[in-house]
Amino acid sequence: MIPFLDLNQVNAPYLQAIEEASLRVIRSGWYILGNELKTFEKAFAAYCEAEHCVGTANGLDAITLILLAMDLPKDSEIIVPANTYIASVLPVSYLHLTPVFVEPDPHTMLIDPARIEQVITPRTKAIVTVDLYGRSCEIAEILGIAKKHGLKVITDAAQAHGATHAGRKVGAWADATAFSFYPTKNLGALGDAGAITTNDAALAEKIRYLRNYGSVIRYQNEYQGVNSRLDEMQAAILSVKLPYLDPENTRRREIAGRYLRELKCKDLTLPPGDRISEDAWHLFVVRHPRRAEFVAFLEAQGVQTNVHYPQPIHKQLAYKEFKDLHLPITEQIHREVVSLPLNPVLTDDEVAHIIQTVNQFDLQ
Ligand SMILES: *Cc1c(COP(=O)(O)O)cnc(C)c1O
Repeated sequence: MIPFLDLNQVNAPYLQAIEEASLRVIRSGWYILGNELKTFEKAFAAYCEAEHCVGTANGLDAITLILLAMDLPKDSEIIVPANTYIASVLPVSYLHLTPVFVEPDPHTMLIDPARIEQVITPRTKAIVTVDLYGRSCEIAEILGIAKKHGLKVITDAAQAHGATHAGRKVGAWADATAFSFYPTKNLGALGDAGAITTNDAALAEKIRYLRNYGSVIRYQNEYQGVNSRLDEMQAAILSVKLPYLDPENTRRREIAGRYLRELKCKDLTLPPGDRISEDAWHLFVVRHPRRAEFVAFLEAQGVQTNVHYPQPIHKQLAYKEFKDLHLPITEQIHREVVSLPLNPVLTDDEVAHIIQTVNQFDLQ
């Protein structure tokens, strides 16, 4: 069986360096808010071509802290993509703000800029964009719309470390960008971790307070903050892995290019191939109208797949208040998407087997 993703294999090349870094942290006697975090924040800001980086406990908190720091009025409407992981939207409702779902472009499956202006009201205060599956959304166009209407833009780049838009890294565009270093992401820790990047010094400073009880000087609290810090152990491990993000993304792009050239199966829709080298290819998401059959066939031929995601946010029990909302493009995407294995440790032979298997689906 070709596994969808094997984290043991993903981390194997770095294990010795990770063990050495971990031992250094264990022996340092300093585990929270120390030099390991400072070093990683500096390196990740530089990598993202952003001026500031603030580490957080996870990606969900990174989004929450950005919105909290923006201090938006309680009845604000926040535009969000209807096709995304629930973590992009939970911070909005958690802070008693109102999510306004916008349908994706059916081809890219990312928020459709043409539909954003249609839902802007006097209560709209911000847009959350998501670089889902590793591809940048139409951020330049969305920033133009935001500027025209005086809105903030927050990007959820939890799946897009290293992706670019018009040659510039995704962490450098929006008012603030949130990253997750959950172990399965393109840059993954060995536990939970996250970060925000921004070019807004005041916003970065405020988030530095908010992630640590609203305090930077011990026992002196400027804000009612939370506890969401990226710990020294995870920061040290991320510093080990960061230099390998680009070569790993290059390998992902090679595999994606091969899939795009060689996958030939009737009724199968491939992801857009117009920006192969800008996309971080966190996931290779195809669509098939007979998904269950397609998945079962691949499984029987030794290819494990995954579905990102099986149920739209507005149809989840957690969001009952939206149960009567009908978003046909998003709902169809959720019925049809399948993610093929795509990770830096796949061998050429495995890629060939996956392509051959998919291409045999019509012939069975
Ligand atoms: C993983 C992910 C998150 C959340 O990150 P955590 O670190 O698990 O909190 C948010 N948004 C998207 C799109 C993600 O894929």
